[in-house]
Amino acid sequence: MKLPKIATVWLEGCSGCHMSFLDMDEDLLNIFSRVELTDSPITDFKDFNFQDVALGIIEGGIANEEQVEIAKKLREKSKILMVWGDCAVFGGINTLRNAFSTQEILQRGYIETESTVNGAIPVHESLPVLLEKALPVNRFVTVDVYVPGCPPSPDAIAYCLNEILQGRIPVLPTDMMHFD
Ligand code: SF4
Repeated sequence: MKLPKIATVWLEGCSGCHMSFLDMDEDLLNIFSRVELTDSPITDFKDFNFQDVALGIIEGGIANEEQVEIAKKLREKSKILMVWGDCAVFGGINTLRNAFSTQEILQRGYIETESTVNGAIPVHESLPVLLEKALPVNRFVTVDVYVPGCPPSPDAIAYCLNEILQGRIPVLPTDMMHFD
């Protein structure tokens, strides 16, 4: 039997949303018996050439040019796109940097911090260029399902996955909006 395919990515985030996903305990076994996970940080994938999937999932906001491209690629390949966590939904903690210019951020992070000795801002063609602002995913691509929380609870993630697997676009109950 062909199982619906799911791909997940972790953009400007801390991995906490994926940790919450893994924290679903027995629900995780239930979900994995009903889907095929094609690409995900937890499968250690090395590129972003996504297959066509029934569901794409993004953790994290968008703060550099590479992340814009990854979000667009996953959107293009996903029938439904779900975003996990406040970073992806609202911009989250990443937006603390939006009051400053990218140059000020890099200067502070790589040169001025109290623990830095002989600091230098790294420059290399392989390093993604920072956007002027860290932004939520829907500023770049259309999002179908929002799961707020920092991180969303395992129950909220399980609820949304189960709803989607039963052919419904989930509306998260209010009591699942916060991590308990
Ligand atoms: S929403 Fe919270 S847990 Fe998820 S990536 Fe952002 S900071 Fe981490």
